[in-house]
Amino acid sequence: MNKCDIGIYGLGVMGQNLSLNFASRGFSVAVYNRREADEENITNTFITTKCQGKKIIGTRNLEDFINSISLPRKIMLLVSTGNAVDEVINQITPFLDVDDIVIDGGNSHYRDTARHLSQMESQGFMFVGCGISGGAEGALKGPSIMPGGSFQAWDKIKFMFQAIAAKNEDNNPCCEWIGPEGSGHFVKMVHNGIEYALMQLIAESYDIMKRLLFMSADEICSVTSEWNSGALNSYLMEITRNILKVRDTDSEPLIDNILDCAAQKGTGRDISISALELGVPVTAISESINARLISTMTTERSLAAHEFINTTQYAGDRKALLKVLEDALYCSQIIVYMQGFSIIAKGAIEYKWDVDLTQIARIWQNGCIIRSKILKAMCASLKKNLVDNVLLNPTFKETIKQKHSGWRKTIMIAITHGIPVPVLSSTLSYFDGICSEHLPANLIQAQRDYFGLHGYEKINASRGIFFHSKWDR
Ligand code: NDP
Repeated sequence: MNKCDIGIYGLGVMGQNLSLNFASRGFSVAVYNRREADEENITNTFITTKCQGKKIIGTRNLEDFINSISLPRKIMLLVSTGNAVDEVINQITPFLDVDDIVIDGGNSHYRDTARHLSQMESQGFMFVGCGISGGAEGALKGPSIMPGGSFQAWDKIKFMFQAIAAKNEDNNPCCEWIGPEGSGHFVKMVHNGIEYALMQLIAESYDIMKRLLFMSADEICSVTSEWNSGALNSYLMEITRNILKVRDTDSEPLIDNILDCAAQKGTGRDISISALELGVPVTAISESINARLISTMTTERSLAAHEFINTTQYAGDRKALLKVLEDALYCSQIIVYMQGFSIIAKGAIEYKWDVDLTQIARIWQNGCIIRSKILKAMCASLKKNLVDNVLLNPTFKETIKQKHSGWRKTIMIAITHGIPVPVLSSTLSYFDGICSEHLPANLIQAQRDYFGLHGYEKINASRGIFFHSKWDR
């Protein structure tokens, strides 16, 4: 029997769809899923229901799986994050040969990936931590792929990964080498953080339309459809429009029957922690996670609702509010992407990764969840490892100048009526902070020196010279 080009371990949503994608590009695939007692044979079911006539072979046990793959082996793990990855690496390692390549395609923490990399390289194997975005459909038809780790592995997997990746408008694959260690998973973590914030921004706009303008799902659908055909065109806007069209069994819009309690997995939390560790303000991302946490406080919300706020219909010009809301969404999205790129830039400096921001913006242009017209425009303005120029770039500078009063107006109206807009407003505060030549941090420094003798710098002295005062004298 001919050996397979690649092995996929883990036949959940991603494993199955990526196997089919590899096979559709002409690669032969060996697949394996653990079999717990009493569990249905997932491998068999997948092979018999979805793989007829395709170059995908099911394997019964680990040894069989590993032996079905041609040397040097390329083995992709698509298992749950955390302990599962450690367990699987430990299971397969005894069967590997020197120069085999193990690729973790899940959402592992970048520090775990760095640990796995040194563990594997010390035994003569190669390891790649590979962020993949695009959900089930992307995995099947072409995701955005962010690989990093053992650079020697790139030469051997590049043609396969670029073949299965989405292509951008220039027909270039949305898959490029990110850098060493856990950089691929770091960039994927940031991608997911941006995703959280963009989703929350659309949700806040929906809330303003629903609770302030009393618009029906169909009316909101028309607005999102219009936005999606203009400057706010994005994958997330497109799926929002599609979601708003769907009816439940009672013929009512399904969206109106869904409980307003949002779940999350780990990557959003991970980026907030990493941002604090690296000293980078990613306020939009952190606020979007907080907003999901508040949404889960259903009992508390139900008790407090109507005690303090009684949202009434907006009495002002409805058309004008929709226009400024569109402007607000545009400006806030720029800040969300900018915060995402700024943590990648800081991470690259801190961890000594030579990461190319323009390349990352390019591989996010198709296949992934955060693809958008704004991101496409931003790609041209990002210099290698430099984000300072996003706001000062002529395209964005002029647009923000035109739109930022609408941004403020939207937030004022929402706040006055008791509609929470944590990401719309935190992005504006970030913008105002960045644009303030003077901030009240002088008072913070004085307070720190008062109680902790931390010292302060003075305006007319050189930077780095610290002064103390006897404040309570
Ligand atoms: P699923 O939950 O659909 O599948 C998880 C897979 O992991 C199953 O095959 C499961 O096997 C296997 N698994 C779990 N624990 C173990 C273990 N201890 N040992 C061996 N195998 C184990 O997950 P997805 O396919 O959705 O996700 C896979 C990875 O990809 C995750 O890291 C996820 O975060 C990431 N990802 C997911 C995306 C998505 O849209 N779904 C998008 C991008 C990344 P079993 O069936 O026996 O339980």
